[in-house]
Amino acid sequence: MPVLVMKFGGTSVATLDRIRRAAKRVGTEVAKGYDVIVIVSAMAGKTNELVGWVNETSPFYDAREYDAVVSSGENVTAGLMALTLQEMEVPARSWQGWQVPLMTTSAHGAARIEDIPPANITQKFAEGMRVAVIAGFQGVSPEGRITTLGRGGSDTSAVAFAAAFGAERCDIYTDVDGVYTTDPRVCAKARKLDRIAFEEMLELASLGAKVLQTRSVELAMRYNVKLRVLSSFEEQSDEAGTLVCGEDLIMESNVVSGVAFSREEAKVTIVTVADTPGIAASIFGTLSDAGVNVDMIVQNVSETGYGSHDELVTDMTFSCPNEQLARAEKALEGARADGTLAFERLETETEVAKVSVVGIGMRSQSGVAARMFRTLAAEGINIKVIATSEIKISVLVDRKYMELAVQALHDAFELERA
Ligand code: ASP
Ligand code: MG
Repeated sequence: MPVLVMKFGGTSVATLDRIRRAAKRVGTEVAKGYDVIVIVSAMAGKTNELVGWVNETSPFYDAREYDAVVSSGENVTAGLMALTLQEMEVPARSWQGWQVPLMTTSAHGAARIEDIPPANITQKFAEGMRVAVIAGFQGVSPEGRITTLGRGGSDTSAVAFAAAFGAERCDIYTDVDGVYTTDPRVCAKARKLDRIAFEEMLELASLGAKVLQTRSVELAMRYNVKLRVLSSFEEQSDEAGTLVCGEDLIMESNVVSGVAFSREEAKVTIVTVADTPGIAASIFGTLSDAGVNVDMIVQNVSETGYGSHDELVTDMTFSCPNEQLARAEKALEGARADGTLAFERLETETEVAKVSVVGIGMRSQSGVAARMFRTLAAEGINIKVIATSEIKISVLVDRKYMELAVQALHDAFELERA
């Protein structure tokens, strides 16, 4: 029988009543003839509570015990979901990660999936079981310890199961009804997309759209797993939600599919560094050793005149998450103090935000950057840093203009229209 994976996020299993509602949807798919693999998150808020307990007990905790504690929320919902299905006379049982087994690396707290041997579950399906309920977010290390896959990891569990079982689709039930052109809280004209390409979703997810864990999208793209994001609170229909899929399944799309933004950015300018081979390597090597995730980079125009010498000098500007700013400054000042890096001073800005337009259509259409910059100029918004990739253009702007920038770009690229 064809296999379908259905994943229910924390808000979709937050109460017994909601678990019942989710189980009914599972029952509907079983009735259509699918063998269903259900992946559940912990009840909404549960994982945060468990993480809090660990931190309170042991600030420098043993990561193996952290995983033992924080994985437990999913055990509860998996068992309850199986019981609910049984009450509805659907043959079901629950599986914890280690029972499957979902085998992972030993990187506790952020383990990667290595393998999911399907034999145990396939055999149960062959014996007449119709639903395998899997505790999401968890697996087992080569040492036999419980691991977790990082926050939001049950999305990744779901995609991995879909890949391992050759599922027809992986339905991700959540509290929003799909993927939007931008956050509707920032732009009232935001529109739900019927389809979006893996690569676009990957950019949107890593640019701050929080619907799916970024790793789950990477995995879906690698194994070509069709993902459908849909609300567990709305009526079911075949058209519901957003399909995240390969480009071949997208007939026509706008040049730009979405506008993403992230508020928590910082900008650093290293004023007056020598413009010599190896300077960028030394700056960004220092930052990477310090664990700073540098995002955008600009090297300014060079000019001569460093002190009394006639050397070429330049300024180097980069952006990073706000919370890493202190670490970045410390690393750069440290490198200056020990003589590995010479510069005049650091200039930092914390009131900045990144706004990006994303779309696979950019590959074949020119003029997207020009239209974006013109739009921002017309609103009097100054661009501080620009970065581009094949399917994305990002700019750093003053944070107070972020909402305006998102709305103006949404209008300019006519994203309210399908
Ligand atoms: N319960 C876990 C978390 O809150 C995993 C998940 O829900 O995806 O991060
Ligand atoms: Mg989630």
